[in-house]
Amino acid sequence: MAKTEKQVISGYHRPVCKKCNCEMHPETNGVGILDMAEFHTIPGGSSYEPHELYDADLWKCPKCGVEVVGGFGFGPISAHYEKDFQEQINRYEKRGLLIKNMG
Ligand SMILES: [Zn+2]
Repeated sequence: MAKTEKQVISGYHRPVCKKCNCEMHPETNGVGILDMAEFHTIPGGSSYEPHELYDADLWKCPKCGVEVVGGFGFGPISAHYEKDFQEQINRYEKRGLLIKNMG
């Protein structure tokens, strides 16, 4: 199987499924991972706000179907203080490719 562009650049190994002893396959190249920052603003609880957005790849085990996200770029493509932050989030959300990371 052909390697993805990012693999050729960084040369990293594909994720391996421990249960099935096989390499995972790229399911979707270019998913958006939205890191959420936790704030303890509510008494006795916490709230989350979008913090940084990363572009990554979704991998899937061809046997058991477990999915993991890997292949993160070097840094976030946008962050909460940047003008295009919401616009970049929308780009992934519109295509159903946004995954929130609650930490
Ligand atoms: Zn598996």
